Amino acid sequence: MAKIVCVLYDDPVDGYPKTYPRDDIPKINAYPDGQTTPRPKGIDFKPGELLGSVSGELGLRRFLENAGHTFVVTSDKDGKDSRLDKELPDAEIVISQPFWPAYMTAERFAKAPKLKLVVTAGIGSDHTDLQAAMDRGVTVAEVTYCNSISVSEHIVMMILSLVRNYIPSYQWVVRGGWNIADCVTRSYDIEGMHIGTVAAGRIGLAALRRLKPFDVKLHYTDRHRLPAGVEKELDLTFHPNVESMVRVCDVVTINCPLHPETENMFNAQLISKMKRGAYIVNTARGKICDPNAIAQALESGQLAGYAGDVWFPQPAPKDHPWRSMPHHGMTPHISGTSLSAQARYAAGVREILECWFDKRPIRNEYLIVDGGKLAGAGAHSYSAGNATRGSEEAARFKTS
Ligand code: NDP
Repeated sequence: MAKIVCVLYDDPVDGYPKTYPRDDIPKINAYPDGQTTPRPKGIDFKPGELLGSVSGELGLRRFLENAGHTFVVTSDKDGKDSRLDKELPDAEIVISQPFWPAYMTAERFAKAPKLKLVVTAGIGSDHTDLQAAMDRGVTVAEVTYCNSISVSEHIVMMILSLVRNYIPSYQWVVRGGWNIADCVTRSYDIEGMHIGTVAAGRIGLAALRRLKPFDVKLHYTDRHRLPAGVEKELDLTFHPNVESMVRVCDVVTINCPLHPETENMFNAQLISKMKRGAYIVNTARGKICDPNAIAQALESGQLAGYAGDVWFPQPAPKDHPWRSMPHHGMTPHISGTSLSAQARYAAGVREILECWFDKRPIRNEYLIVDGGKLAGAGAHSYSAGNATRGSEEAARFKTS
């Protein structure tokens, strides 16, 4: 029987919810590429419940304990004496979410000699040292597509919020004001703007599709080109590299995975090549942008706005420059963990665990590392190496 350690974010400050604003969520059966949504043999939760926090337990406790496994759920993941570190020596499976990532560094792999499977309840396994997983023969899997559409909706919201200056205008109302001129001196329409995505994978392409009806001019750069039919349908301009794209865009949205090739991509040099007053929306990963370069560009006016939900490390220390820089629309990491998305990734984790315990193959689309090498979705979109350096800084959230 296995010991499974699951790291989830804390419950709401007012306690685990007893009621929800809505009674149901739409049932989604398949994703735009035809792949079916997760199909576990059963689920022990009601879709629409809070599953991603500690008391939600991803709805897994009954399933795992009925099968005789030990299931430990904690939010205590940072610092040397964390509960996660204490549980690692006999853990066979670690489950964690990108929103509140259990950084699985090489040091943590060394503390977990029995570890065989690391599951990301969501998408993006950069919080796991993939090189260490490959070296140790540990399988890494994530729930590909589970929240890609959730994030694409968030991107459209953030682009409109920044360009139309929504958040400061809302704040004038809360403060009792009617300061129209203050609100609109930074407010524009996106109609006619050039909007580009770094990567046109599941999220990037879904964002492009959702932006098309706004009569904007769409651009993308990616390692692989989209089919000619898609380029034509969306009237896309392809750029062979990110520099070429950012020079002409009013808004850039970042939708590539974090891996050694993309780490620190948006540094001072690249930002200086953007149009003055451009906006960046980054819901991919914090480490793709240099935090100080972003803050300085907002202060100088080189960037007119920056929004996103991804930071490094997570949780971000209280003195992280993105909390206090001007013209930002940052939230905690939430875009992929709406209640709708949670139902899909909780079911996806259950499907992965059922396959693992039944010794059936995990869907190829869910694999990131397997058999000592990048596999499945990982082989397509990641590069070998490690992107967890500096993650020990997450412990500063408690003390900063
Ligand atoms: P996909 O794998 O479908 O798409 C990723 C795309 O990035 C692929 O098209 C890939 O190219 C491309 N890519 C990889 N490296 C580069 C590079 N160096 N330059 C340009 N393009 C590159 O993943 P998703 O769209 O589903 O997710 C993307 C990322 O979004 C995740 O890895 C994760 O980090 C983040 N995410 C954030 C969430 C949130 O809650 N904020 C939730 C879910 C995901 P190709 O395959 O053609 O080689």
